[in-house]
Amino acid sequence: MGRSESLPSAVAEAVHPDAPFWLPFTPNREFKTGGARLAARAEGIYYWDDQGRRIIDASSGLFCVAAGHGRREIAEAVGRQVAELDYLPPFLRAHGKAFELARRIAELTPGDLNRIFFTNSGSEAVDSAMKIALAYHRARGQGQRQIFISRERAYHGVNFGGIALSGMANNRRHFGIGLAPVAHLRHHHLQENAFTRGQGAQGAELADDLLRLINLHGAENIAAVFVEPVAGSTGVLVPPRGYLQRLREICDQHQLLLVFDEVISGFGRLGDNFGAQTFGVTPDIMTLAKALTNGTVPMGAVAASQRIYDGIVAAAGEQSIEFFHGYTYSAHPLACAAGLAVLDIYRDEGLFERAQKLSPYFLDMVFSLRDLPIVTDIRGIGFLAGFDVAADGAPGVRGHELQKRLWDAGLHLKTTGDAAILAPAYIAEKAHIDEIGDTLRRVLKSF
Ligand code: PMP
Repeated sequence: MGRSESLPSAVAEAVHPDAPFWLPFTPNREFKTGGARLAARAEGIYYWDDQGRRIIDASSGLFCVAAGHGRREIAEAVGRQVAELDYLPPFLRAHGKAFELARRIAELTPGDLNRIFFTNSGSEAVDSAMKIALAYHRARGQGQRQIFISRERAYHGVNFGGIALSGMANNRRHFGIGLAPVAHLRHHHLQENAFTRGQGAQGAELADDLLRLINLHGAENIAAVFVEPVAGSTGVLVPPRGYLQRLREICDQHQLLLVFDEVISGFGRLGDNFGAQTFGVTPDIMTLAKALTNGTVPMGAVAASQRIYDGIVAAAGEQSIEFFHGYTYSAHPLACAAGLAVLDIYRDEGLFERAQKLSPYFLDMVFSLRDLPIVTDIRGIGFLAGFDVAADGAPGVRGHELQKRLWDAGLHLKTTGDAAILAPAYIAEKAHIDEIGDTLRRVLKSF
């Protein structure tokens, strides 16, 4: 019997090989022919599937639901907003909540990263940040600076700018060469740092790989360097001590903008407001999304330094548009209402501090898996951790199988290749961490 035959009738009818819904990043044929895993509702740290089974959410959905699922405050704020002002074109007009949310975000960002440009996703934030970097250099008479530097094992979303930056083979190779000229730094995931908690001691010198690319392409042709402070989607790769500081130094010496993609590491995930503060390095631009609205209404943002904003604005005449870029749904009123409600929750419940306090307990649990022979590396910082399982056959096959078995055993987490990523909501209690640990151990032993 295919799984769909045991589902409630309306759902069973919808899930079949010819179903119109084209799932992203999913083997559609497998999913629609007996492999369908369907969620029906969510609350706190749990999902419930279509059969009423409870599934603990060990990845905050996809690193976004940091304050837990089903928050009434957000639902009410969004509901009120629909009734009050549902939509407004974002060009030449604005609404108060967009100003308010930008101010609230700017209060959390480090340094003078206080100019906030709204988008609808992390991918759009990355592409917008690339355009801001290009516009800034043009405004200061350095329009030839068009090359971007990224890194192997980077994930910067899936729009054309993002896949050009991407250091993940599958996200690039299926679409040709991409658009933007991008050179890639070596990644810093070293065997010498295996099973290191927090930042590894080895590998800061890998930042000097940037000098190699500068020598090759010429600093005068390079616009910006994009890195995730902790590479999240490729398995939680924490930078070695001193690595980000060294990148900052080199960028300053050669007038390259440093961009931190904080789509995962932002909003308390590493214990501070942003990874920039955790590592004590201030970039020129940050990209944000995910936990900004707790995953409820799609929203991303770019935080740019005052210097960049001033540079772009100064180059334009009084009545001209300084930056020819924006989306129909930029600063959408519902997203702004959700974002404000979410930032209130983080502040009023002290959730970043709470996660930071529980982090050692969480990391103890994850690193305790080290005794299982199938686990070949573990990494973690704050409320974010990743572990690798030994590959079985083609890369990623076991990771995919692990993720399915975990869901069936009552646990949701994200896998990427043969790495599993844990990022619980900040409202987690010790008992939730224990439940995650017990389920992981049981399922890992089943291989
Ligand atoms: N940048 C990073 C660092 C991410 O982790 C992600 C999403 N996982 C993105 C960009 C893209 O965000 P979105 O899926 O919202 O487009």
